[in-house]
Order: sequence, then C-alpha cells, then structure tokens
Amino acid sequence: MRVVSGIQPTGKPHLGNYLGAIRNYVKLQDEAHDAGGDCLIFLADLHAISMPHQPAELHASTLEMVATLVACGLDPARSVLFNQAQVAAHAELQWLLMGTARMGWLNRMTQWKDKAGKNREGQSVALFGYPVLQAADVLLYQATHVPVGEDQKQHLELARDIAQKFNSDFAAEDAPVFTLPDPFIPEDAARIMSLRDGSKKMSKSDASDMSRINLTDDADTMAQKVKKAKTDPEPLPSEPAGLAGRPEALNLVSIYAALDETTPEAVLAEHGGQGFGQFKPVLAERLVSVLEPIRDRFVELRDDREALDAILARGAARAREMGRPTLDSAYRALGLVRG
Ligand code: ATP
Ligand code: MG
Repeated sequence: MRVVSGIQPTGKPHLGNYLGAIRNYVKLQDEAHDAGGDCLIFLADLHAISMPHQPAELHASTLEMVATLVACGLDPARSVLFNQAQVAAHAELQWLLMGTARMGWLNRMTQWKDKAGKNREGQSVALFGYPVLQAADVLLYQATHVPVGEDQKQHLELARDIAQKFNSDFAAEDAPVFTLPDPFIPEDAARIMSLRDGSKKMSKSDASDMSRINLTDDADTMAQKVKKAKTDPEPLPSEPAGLAGRPEALNLVSIYAALDETTPEAVLAEHGGQGFGQFKPVLAERLVSVLEPIRDRFVELRDDREALDAILARGAARAREMGRPTLDSAYRALGLVRG
C-alpha cells in the first residue's frame, strides 16, 4: 500500500480541508503504517506557481501548511512529509512525461477550461501543463492509493492514460515503468459548504472570511461565524428527508455529523425539533472542542522555523530516495544517456 497525495500551500486551511482531506490523510497514514506501506503527503508548491502569486505569501503559506498538517495529526515519523520544490524528481519526471502527454488530452481538462476561462492565450504554460506535473507526482512513487476529491478524478484518469501510453511506447510488456494509479475517493469524505451560501463549497479562495471556519480561528471567532451562518427560520427536522431544499440547514447538520464522525440521521435523532438558536451554540461548542487542540499545536509549531525546516528536509531526503528507481528507469526507457 502506497498512499500519495498533495495539497496546495495557498491561502489558509479551513474546516472543509480538514474534514474533507487532511483528517483522511491521518487515517491513511495509520493504515499504511500498520500494513507496512508508506504514506507520502506533499505540499504542491510547484503547482502553486501556475497562477499569479506573491512569492513572500507562497513562502509563508508553505511553512504554515506544514505546521497545519502536523497539528492535524500527520506524523513526520510515520508519513513522508515534504514539498515538491525540494525533490527535483517531480519537475524532471514532468518533463519526461511531456513527450507522452497529448495537447488534445490536456485541452479537455475541465480545470484548465474553468481556470483559463475565455483568456486561454493569456495563461501560463504551467497552468496548461499542470495535470502532467500531477501525473509525475503520483507515477514517481508507484502510488497505489491516491486520495483525491471528486474535482481531481479527471486528472488522475489522465495520469493513467499517460502511464499507459509511456509503458506501451517505451517499456517491455513484462516490465512496465509505471504502475497505473487508482483514485481513492473515501465514501464518507465530507463536502463542507460555505457558511454564507449552502450551494457553494467552503473554499480558501472565497472573498468572505465569514464563509469559512479557518483552522487558525480562535474560539470566539468560530462561535461568531457559526452564529452568523445563514439558516432558515424552520426548526431542525427529525429525519434527513426533512432537509431537502434546505442547503444551509443540511450543511450545519453535516458539519456536526462529520465532527462527531456520525451520520446526519444520528444528529437529527438527537437534535430534531430544535431551532437554530439552540442548535448553533451546541455546534459551535463541538467545533471548538475538535479544532482548539489543533490550533494550539499549530500556534506552537508555526514559529519554530528550525523544526519546520527539519521536517521538510527529512521528508525530502526520503522522497528522493523513494522516487529515484522510477526516475532512473524512465530516463533509461527513453534512451537518454546518463553516465
Ligand atoms: P481553492 O479555493 O484555492 O481551490 P480549496 O479550499 O478548494 O482552495 P484545495 O487546496 O483546492 O482547497 O483543496 C485541498 C483539499 O481539500 C482537496 O483534497 C480538496 O478536495 C479538499 N477540499 C477543499 N474544499 C473542501 C470542502 N469544502 N469540503 C471538503 N473537502 C474540501
Ligand atoms: Mg480547490
């Protein structure tokens, strides 16, 4: 079992990132560890330069994201925690795969279409080539489990296409260079919506800070955000069917259920009939009790630059070692002379 996943170090991590992705990384880390496998979690800093960015912000966010991941329970001794920029093999393999990826494949990517909009000519080449780097990220380590959100499934299918074409063009049939990776979308992964609009997902890039709970918010701020969250005037129903057409109510119930690692049914069995004036303070309390210890650890680690550097250096050294055999066989398969 080899788990590989990345997270972009842009903006502040929020409740949706935690419940939808990071908490899941921690579970996979423990599963992989118990099964004698590996878990590689990296900060996708090379991906972050595909869009206009502020260098000082990227630098600070990368270090903050390491502190966040460790505060959330990723253990640098059990996981390989690193940033792409310190493992040159990611960029090298991307270039090798550029010869295999087709323009037509990349042109069909919905993320490219969404992010480029009408101004394709004005985008960076990196934004267009983004899925090739993502393919390199997972193919480099012969990943078996790649936990991703629904939005990244198409990119992982592209990684499979690239791997398949490379293997069939350049490798002997009985000695493929790359393992075809499978997306791993946990069925219980939560999708948390904005606190201001139940039809939009909670997002780092939402202009309104009131739309999300940041993992770095203090208890009072969290309580205020829950209090001000958009709702409707009806009390909570006693069963999930009663949440149909009430996206904001559904979202608060889902958040509660995800925090408690239980189901909306169970939450409604206990809180059905309550108005939001009663339910919101209880939700805020749960939120604070789950996130406060994370925040405390984060605050402690955030300013320990030496510790953060050491975590990344150690992770990068292990990642380089783990990626080397695949990178070497890719160079060899292509006929490149390497001394
Ligand atoms: P951006 O707005 O910059 O795209 P984001 O909030 O979507 O930021 P990402 O860095 O794109 O965050 O995603 C990191 C991880 O968190 C991904 O695995 C993604 O699927 C997951 N994730 C992001 N938002 C949510 C959400 N609202 N609910 C559940 N999971 C989420
Ligand atoms: Mg996103």
